[in-house]
Amino acid sequence: MLTEPAIAPTPAAPAALPSLVGMDRAALGEALGSIGVPERQRRMRAAQLWHWIYLRGATSFDEMTNVAKDMRSALAAAFVISRPEIVTEQISEDGTRKWLLRFPSRGAGRPVEIETVYIPEEGRGTLCLSSQVGCTLSCSFCHTGTQKLVRNLTAEEIVGQILLARDRLGDHPKATPIDGAVPSTGRLVSNVVMMGMGEPLYNFDNVKGALHIAADGDGLSLSKRRITLSTSGVVPMIPKAGDEIGVTLAISLHAVRDELRDELVPLNRKYPIAELLAACRAYPGLSNARRITFEYVMLKGVNDTLADARELVRLLSGIPAKINLIPFNPWPGNTYECSDWSQIEKFAEVVNDAGYASPIRTPRGRDILAACGQLKSESERLRIRERMALEAMIAG
Ligand code: SAH
Ligand code: SF4
Repeated sequence: MLTEPAIAPTPAAPAALPSLVGMDRAALGEALGSIGVPERQRRMRAAQLWHWIYLRGATSFDEMTNVAKDMRSALAAAFVISRPEIVTEQISEDGTRKWLLRFPSRGAGRPVEIETVYIPEEGRGTLCLSSQVGCTLSCSFCHTGTQKLVRNLTAEEIVGQILLARDRLGDHPKATPIDGAVPSTGRLVSNVVMMGMGEPLYNFDNVKGALHIAADGDGLSLSKRRITLSTSGVVPMIPKAGDEIGVTLAISLHAVRDELRDELVPLNRKYPIAELLAACRAYPGLSNARRITFEYVMLKGVNDTLADARELVRLLSGIPAKINLIPFNPWPGNTYECSDWSQIEKFAEVVNDAGYASPIRTPRGRDILAACGQLKSESERLRIRERMALEAMIAG
């Protein structure tokens, strides 16, 4: 059952004032300098702001009780602590939540919209973030790929998705969680994956800035192992991501032969499988405790034979890896079908027998189009006819 509860509108940041969200500590120090805070105080003041913004989830300077009143007014006159504007919030019958969020155009013409998804599971809660509005890459099975790239999201907008989710879930320390099911990490949002809209390695600097903030131990404190960056295979950026971001890597592989991968993931024509896997082998810090996740969407009669499974095992030999089998999530206008469940299980068995963990990802939030590859800006909203077609697909 789909519910769209009434929500208190979050105020969009007035365009005139810059937001402190998404700035690193050095930029925060400069911002403080710009309102006359003497240099010797800036580090301490920046640490205070950091604590309030990222640990406590403050959205106004008034909440910062250990900051002097005149300083709070000076900050409020010059800056905001922004949140994305919520257009809709949907809750799936399985508890998955999807937010359609709106950001200012920043030169892109109209305001832009993206989607963020929260997936509660036993023992953990995963937040799936978008990195771009649309995508340049047009993978043939992906809904986002049908929407052309509008623009990159800024670090502020990427971190803003985490802050907003914590607001809505009551997941800041000292807040009241929405229900009692808090994972062992003590937070509802215990994991973050860059698996929403867009190709994160085509928006490297902003993604890097945002993930450093997410992993910062004095603030959001998500361990780098609990942050995953998924790429369709931008090979030249993989070593840089390893050195400069250092989070868990996921690769959207989806095929074991170049001919087929060229078709499914057209970026393969530029960076074929052998080059992609060489970059994976060289990814820093790999061990059995730190594995690369390979994503493999299960497409009926396309990439799901047992010969494919055996070839997959052969290709990955020597790489500490986990293989996520993703049942294809349908969307209107697409002709692929999801592999039969029995075939997915047989495929998983071949991969498992070779010693690789190969969880089959249960589709989550399909009823609200929140599952992998179904995201798209609502500005490209589904027409009623398309939605009915989709509902029929899901029911079948
Ligand atoms: N652009 C990045 C991250 C976002 S996509 C990437 O491609 O890796 C997140 C994952 O969902 C990718 O593995 C993608 O291939 C997969 N995906 C896309 N469309 C899908 C669909 N319709 N069904 C299942 N998985 C899909
Ligand atoms: Fe873009 Fe990833 Fe979708 Fe491909 S699968 S079109 S890279 S979002």
